[in-house]
Amino acid sequence: MNCNRYECPICLGQNLILKYEANYVYTYILDSDAPGLLNAEEFLSWLYDRRELKHNRTYIECIKCGAQYPYTFIAGVLDHRE
Ligand SMILES: [Zn+2]
Repeated sequence: MNCNRYECPICLGQNLILKYEANYVYTYILDSDAPGLLNAEEFLSWLYDRRELKHNRTYIECIKCGAQYPYTFIAGVLDHRE
């Protein structure tokens, strides 16, 4: 595993991480027992009836200074070291 292949252009830190951020709306149909058609005895949040992705983004973040870069920058602005 090569951990130090990229460098932050702002602080020159070499600990960059990739983050995937997402917002979902989960829907549970109300029936005669616990909410959600798949839930009977108790409400379990992962047994949903519908899931809608509202927003998502993937980005690179510098652990040292907190700067964030679009994921596509990894091939351009960020310095590639091998
Ligand atoms: Zn940085």
